[in-house]
Amino acid sequence: MLTEKQKIRYLLSSLLASGQSVQCPYCKSGKGRKIDRKYLVTKLLECQVCHLYFRFPIDQANENESFYQTEYQESDKITTGLPDPDSLDKMKSEGFRAEDKNADRYLELFAKLFPGKNNLRIIDYGSSWGYTSYQFKKAGHQVQGFEISLPRASFGIKNLEVDICSDEKLLRNENHIFFSSHVIEHHPDIASMVKLGKSLLVDGGYFIAFCPNGSQAFRQRNPEVFHRFWGKVHPNFLNAEFYKHIFEDQPYYIASSPIVAGKLHPLQFRDKVVEDLSGEELMVVVKYGKS
Ligand SMILES: [Zn+2]
Repeated sequence: MLTEKQKIRYLLSSLLASGQSVQCPYCKSGKGRKIDRKYLVTKLLECQVCHLYFRFPIDQANENESFYQTEYQESDKITTGLPDPDSLDKMKSEGFRAEDKNADRYLELFAKLFPGKNNLRIIDYGSSWGYTSYQFKKAGHQVQGFEISLPRASFGIKNLEVDICSDEKLLRNENHIFFSSHVIEHHPDIASMVKLGKSLLVDGGYFIAFCPNGSQAFRQRNPEVFHRFWGKVHPNFLNAEFYKHIFEDQPYYIASSPIVAGKLHPLQFRDKVVEDLSGEELMVVVKYGKS
């Protein structure tokens, strides 16, 4: 959620950057088709090569980092705000349900992908202050979080006793799952995030990402929410066509909310499966390797 002052600054920096030439932040193609528009000068473009929807003009990399270190605040507070000790105890005892951060649905998914295994090695990429890593760890998994914001990373290490690092070079290898939830839509370099995920997985490991759904089926069902979902905080708007393109060499499963883990079967990953895409949250699960 942006304050009025941030909105004005966003509009001004968009105006100043409107001379920028179009370049897809994923594949660097210069071919963009207009999908939507905001505040006169800010557009949502679809790359005509890889089908990523991206905001134009785009931020500079250093602008992005300082934004997340200092200004970023989701309206639900828990994503970025740090709770006091009493609130934290209450959240822990209620399994983060009141904050809508309960991780059971992710754990059900992992159990479907690795039946009977409760000691999975998981990277929680973009872990914020560790509320999801904490729940994965409590369920018996070995979790390493990654978070660029130093205050949030240290809060989690100190108060939730989870392992969170802030340097991608320190992430460990040989993981069963590279997990991210509501991170890829903020990421300035999706190609490097996907490459990193793949490099950290075991043979037969999974890249899993949850994010707002930019697919056309969702836009048709709910055009107002589609319009609201992209902007300063979400420079990328992920959709099924983009995932189908970038993961064409791997088996994948693409679905939108409500996501029913019970429908998933590991054998589905011998193929490519795309479910109904009209829900507001998009999930992609990609299998790397043969085992
Ligand atoms: Zn592209």
